[in-house]
Amino acid sequence: MTVLAKIILPLAVKSNFTYRARPNQEAFVVPGARVLVNFGKRKIYTGIIKESWEESREEVLKHLKYIEEVVDEAPVLSKQQFQLFEWTSYYYLCTEGEVMKAALPAGMKTESSLRISMSPDLNWEALDLGDKEFVLMEALEHKPTMGFREVAELWQVANPNPRLNVMAERGWIRLYQEVEERYRPKTKTFLRLTDLTSHEKGMQDALETVAKYPAQESLLMRIISDFFQKAPTPKTETLKELGISGSAVNSLEKKGFLVQEEVQVDRLALYGYDQKAVNITLNPEQQRVLGEIRAAHKEKVSRPVLLHGITGSGKTHIYIELIREALEKGQQVLYLLPEITLTKQIVDRIKSEFGSQVGVYHSKFNDAERVEIWHKVNKQEYKVLIGVRSAMFLPFHHLGLIVVDEEHDTSFKQFDPAPRYHARDLAVYLGHKNKIPVVLGSATPSFESYQNALQGKYALTELFTRAIDAELPDIRVVDVRAERKTKQMEGVFSKQLKEAIELRLQRKEQVILFQNRRGYAPYLVCQNCGFVPECVNCDINLTYHKQVDHLRCHYCGYTEYETQKCPSCHHFALKKMGIGTEKIEEDIKAMFPDAEVGRMDYDTTRSKMAFQEIINRFERRKLDILVGTQMVSKGLDFEHVTLVGVIMADNVLSFPDFRAYEYAFQLLTQVSGRAGRSKKPGEVFVQTYNPQNTVVKAIQERKSYGDFFQAEVLERQQLAYPPSSRMLRIETRHREREQVEKETLRLEGLLRPKFGQALLGPDYPLIARMRNQYRMQFLLKIDKRMAAAQLRQQLQEIIEQYYRKAPHKSLRIVLDVDPV
Ligand code: ADP
Ligand code: ZN
Repeated sequence: MTVLAKIILPLAVKSNFTYRARPNQEAFVVPGARVLVNFGKRKIYTGIIKESWEESREEVLKHLKYIEEVVDEAPVLSKQQFQLFEWTSYYYLCTEGEVMKAALPAGMKTESSLRISMSPDLNWEALDLGDKEFVLMEALEHKPTMGFREVAELWQVANPNPRLNVMAERGWIRLYQEVEERYRPKTKTFLRLTDLTSHEKGMQDALETVAKYPAQESLLMRIISDFFQKAPTPKTETLKELGISGSAVNSLEKKGFLVQEEVQVDRLALYGYDQKAVNITLNPEQQRVLGEIRAAHKEKVSRPVLLHGITGSGKTHIYIELIREALEKGQQVLYLLPEITLTKQIVDRIKSEFGSQVGVYHSKFNDAERVEIWHKVNKQEYKVLIGVRSAMFLPFHHLGLIVVDEEHDTSFKQFDPAPRYHARDLAVYLGHKNKIPVVLGSATPSFESYQNALQGKYALTELFTRAIDAELPDIRVVDVRAERKTKQMEGVFSKQLKEAIELRLQRKEQVILFQNRRGYAPYLVCQNCGFVPECVNCDINLTYHKQVDHLRCHYCGYTEYETQKCPSCHHFALKKMGIGTEKIEEDIKAMFPDAEVGRMDYDTTRSKMAFQEIINRFERRKLDILVGTQMVSKGLDFEHVTLVGVIMADNVLSFPDFRAYEYAFQLLTQVSGRAGRSKKPGEVFVQTYNPQNTVVKAIQERKSYGDFFQAEVLERQQLAYPPSSRMLRIETRHREREQVEKETLRLEGLLRPKFGQALLGPDYPLIARMRNQYRMQFLLKIDKRMAAAQLRQQLQEIIEQYYRKAPHKSLRIVLDVDPV
């Protein structure tokens, strides 16, 4: 009998592959463990064992490749996760390999790369070599091995492979695959005394020996003193403190007076947090809601609970109570948040309640840190995990609660690449499948979730008042056009807004200004010829960034350094148009030179620390005014903010999308919700050219979320748009416009007969070319009663049929289920 294993590889290949174990591996070949296997041309990948079984038929065995190595002694993936992998790949029409790729941190799925070394005992100088071959051999004289990239660079060619293969065939060099270990535990070096020096006599002798070398002497004395105080001696810090170099360590080591010891340290323990646990008694409304949630979770068929509570109603404290209950039962908890750094405040609150059993998982952690978090969740050292969408895939064991906070946020949906999953929907699936209580929370739920709640698929519970005696802020809409006519505008600030800011500065209160454009000017126009600089790779204007003085594409990162002279007519006539956060920051500083102004957007928060730094400064009232993009709208809770200014609401209102009003209402409600969250009343100014706009009016009239929903959802119903139906987006991509148009029409020829009126398009998305790919798209409206499995199959068959007949296979077809 031989053990065989079906293996998921982190690739977009459709099926899983079967490999055989070597006898000594058999005990370790269990589902959930990782293996290294050969796949394709001499390449080694990390895969995950999905199933294993025994086989004796030689005719089966003889075609199978061996597993190279079993990486784990115990599974790193649980049963529940396989379930999730499977469902994700089924529902979102992608492969399990693609799910694996998204789920595992890079450090857990190493791939091999090609290495090159010189054949042993080769007298290469005697060979008749070409120029390129000669430089390579010369380089290999000095280096035992080289990588593919290094050779490409050395030869200044894109693909050195053909030449390398010839050299290998002639026996001059060896080519082989090597798996790089990408994850290494972090270690720290400590200095310790040896047997020779850890008693009094030895110490004295040693000190005498090094008496004429001051550096060695002072170092040795330090280690001895630490020894008596039972304190460790960290190498780097000690050398720095004593102002001596590493050579003193080496000398002492050679003499046998000390040893260096590497100790593995916990990277994650290095991040501190502000600890200030507050004792809070839930108010009666919160008590009621907590009771309703518990009751819903006890129902026979447990349903997810939608907690709809206005901004500042105290949803977080309800989550905390639920978390406490799960922990008391010894269960794990997953708390999902949109892009985590944006809600550091919530992390602090939860950590201050539950301490070191709380882990955090988000995009600003590096790869090694993510691997460590993975293991800590697997070993259940982390009981509560606060994370962004990909945390959904962490290896939980006894999950007793999933909270999806700000469930309406579109960052829960992965856009590119596959799997294009929605973390909230995965949470609902996992909860349903394994009877795990799920709570979705928001002040402005997605229409999908609210509809589900109204129809009884979810349980609905609502908080209608703010937690502390606070009122929702007053909303004032400013008609920018009218203000301009009467000369009441100073730049982009209306007189009213300016006065309101002035008042806050006098009262030492704080202000948030929101503009959903980053950079200084969203585009430039040549005053001479009308030219607008665009990205060379995408069909989009370049944004001017003043601090770094260049133009940048916000989609692909392309950068242009000429910011004065028109590239078309060569006049120095480029004018900055529109308003970004950088410009607002500049203007507000000019207007109020004594105010401290901070800016929070993608550009100022790249690093993990930068973000926290801004929040901390605002929290400690070192900043009076915070200017920012959407980032300032999310979940922040500052006691002294009493004014929010929306500089130009029109940007938010004009997305060309059937969900535009839903998003605008959410965004404006959320950003307004930052004002007046504590005892002091708040005020919001919304500046706009369209005071009559439906959303602006709804915000101004303080329409409730429920009323807004009812009015909007009718329109959606009439058009059979979500939430009345489901959507599936079919996108086609090609490097040439002509090809994408022609091939998309051919695809339509296959799709139309099947789907008829339900298929919309093809048309061009908002940005028709991105990263040099031309794109077109269809939207498929799917009746909710329709059998999903059948539709999936039909669609996949059509795509296969298309590729069978396609003249060349270069058209890419991308499927996006429930696009947002
Ligand atoms: P939400 O998440 O619903 O917007 P939060 O949970 O952030 O609201 O609560 C808003 C503010 O009210 C926070 O500063 C919070 O500490 C405070 N708060 C909430 N509930 C209570 C309570 N029962 N007693 C005192 N303060 C509370
Ligand atoms: Zn671009």
